[in-house]
Amino acid sequence: MNPVSTLVTVTRQTMLVALIAIGASAASMQTAMADQPAKQVFGAAKLPAVLPARAIGFYSKGCLAGGIAIPTDGPTWQAMRLSRNRRWGHPDLIALVEKLSREAAAKDGWPGLLVGDIAQPRGGPMLSGHASHQVGLDADIWLTPMPQRTLTAAERENISATSMLRKNTLQVDDRVWTPAHARLLMRAASYPEVERIFIHPGIKKKLCDTWKGDRSAMGKLRPYYGHHYHFHIRIKCPPGTSGCRSQNPPPSGSGCDKSLAWWFTDEPWAPAKPKKNDKPKPRKREIQLSDLPQACSVVAAAPGPASEAEVTFGADPIARIARANANAAGVAASAFPAVPLPGRIPLPVPRPVN
Ligand SMILES: [Zn+2]
Repeated sequence: MNPVSTLVTVTRQTMLVALIAIGASAASMQTAMADQPAKQVFGAAKLPAVLPARAIGFYSKGCLAGGIAIPTDGPTWQAMRLSRNRRWGHPDLIALVEKLSREAAAKDGWPGLLVGDIAQPRGGPMLSGHASHQVGLDADIWLTPMPQRTLTAAERENISATSMLRKNTLQVDDRVWTPAHARLLMRAASYPEVERIFIHPGIKKKLCDTWKGDRSAMGKLRPYYGHHYHFHIRIKCPPGTSGCRSQNPPPSGSGCDKSLAWWFTDEPWAPAKPKKNDKPKPRKREIQLSDLPQACSVVAAAPGPASEAEVTFGADPIARIARANANAAGVAASAFPAVPLPGRIPLPVPRPVN
């Protein structure tokens, strides 16, 4: 960054602070923020926009209004990497993740989910990682089963997920892969609200080769780079949401075909060769707030909750009841901390239901 652009940035920030200080209208705040990099604006939001829940735009270009956080601990899940503050999502997605965790524990022999990144409090582009996860309809779930004990905050930051692959191969390692992994993935794909699931081609192949049950949802499991430590659930736009752009449904069929075989050729893994007459690509311009759907400027400028106590939590009725009970019993609201602010990473709490 050259000194001039630094100066411009500082001036803009000063202006924003001043606008907030004088209680400027949402409209003038929106104007002031319009030409800022979107990832700076959304990466800085610590709390959700208090607006009706709405996924706005596309998975890789949008934002989230009225997001809720999945509680750090549920009966059948634990949220990881709390310091990232990326466990916010559309209430429909949070409900889906909680349902999957419950049903997989009850029926699939999967002890519980370790929940990775979902979205930022107001969604939007991130300062690091993930092209998608912007509208609160994408969630990463670890392929490591949840341990029996409650992980400490430090463990949630530092534990590594387990790769399902044999080192330097595209093949699943049968010492770590279990039939319960297969059941978990096939259950996740089976929900009608799930649009697609991204997994490594090696894992898709394993499922194609070994899954004996209902294969009607197999086509939703989409092979993609990475995704051998975790899988990525994407749900459809919630019905009736205006301004949420759907992705084309995956091609019909199981996907256990030529399209999968392609992943086991050199082509997808070879470094991109420049074509003969290719001009050097111009440097990509950073996405500005004004490049996102207009409603995202409203989301960026909207007020947050007055206090953390107002933040809504996961949709799981058990978690909500447990929270209400905890409140009734005089347990501090921070028993289910929603926002891990820097230096205040919440300590794990006893499971809501024991
Ligand atoms: Zn993901």
